[in-house]
Amino acid sequence: NSFDKMGIHEDLLRGIYAYGFEKPSAIQQRAVLPIISGRDVIAQAQSGTGKTSMIALAVCQIIENTTREVQALILSPTRELAAQTEKVILAIGDHMNVQAHACIGGKSIGEDIRKLEYGVHVVSGTPGRVYDMIKRRTLRTRSIKLLVLDESDEMLSRGFKDQIYDVYRYLPPELQVVLVSATLPHEILEMTNKFMTDPVRILV
Ligand code: AMP
Repeated sequence: NSFDKMGIHEDLLRGIYAYGFEKPSAIQQRAVLPIISGRDVIAQAQSGTGKTSMIALAVCQIIENTTREVQALILSPTRELAAQTEKVILAIGDHMNVQAHACIGGKSIGEDIRKLEYGVHVVSGTPGRVYDMIKRRTLRTRSIKLLVLDESDEMLSRGFKDQIYDVYRYLPPELQVVLVSATLPHEILEMTNKFMTDPVRILV
């Protein structure tokens, strides 16, 4: 039960320890390896389990920082969660120079455009603003290889279902998908059937 044995880059390990984590939480222990190995993952987990850092870890591990194209997209139900996820990614990815941007409503569109045109590896956002940036062709989707749907049940209860499907339609076909949700109602299972291939299921 150690971050050292998870096949994580040296630079990322340094970021994790510098952030103050010593050992992976249960969800990190069980979800990071399958995600890193390229599997689709359904993680049934609440907040407080270390799910945000699990997402940050997996995202930082799959980023190639030799190009500055968006490679991972994380959708969250609230501005606060999207911003928090961006913050953790920037913190633990600090030693590997990961560039991330939070695409959230209530902030100026000009800032999104400036940041996305400069180039980032990761976008963490709410479905409405992300879809808006995709339609404007400011957010280029062709290099996205990982989609994370965080607090999926909460996104559906906030009415984001259509926007999630709209975003999904713009993503490349060879997409890896990680879905995190506290509960797995029918509408979530429908999404997993549509978006995912042979997913690993994890319950924490
Ligand atoms: P989350 O469920 O991601 O919102 O995380 C809940 C809290 O646990 C946050 O304050 C995290 O910083 C903390 N946390 C997450 N993973 C670890 C870990 N491996 N070791 C210690 N604290 C952690």
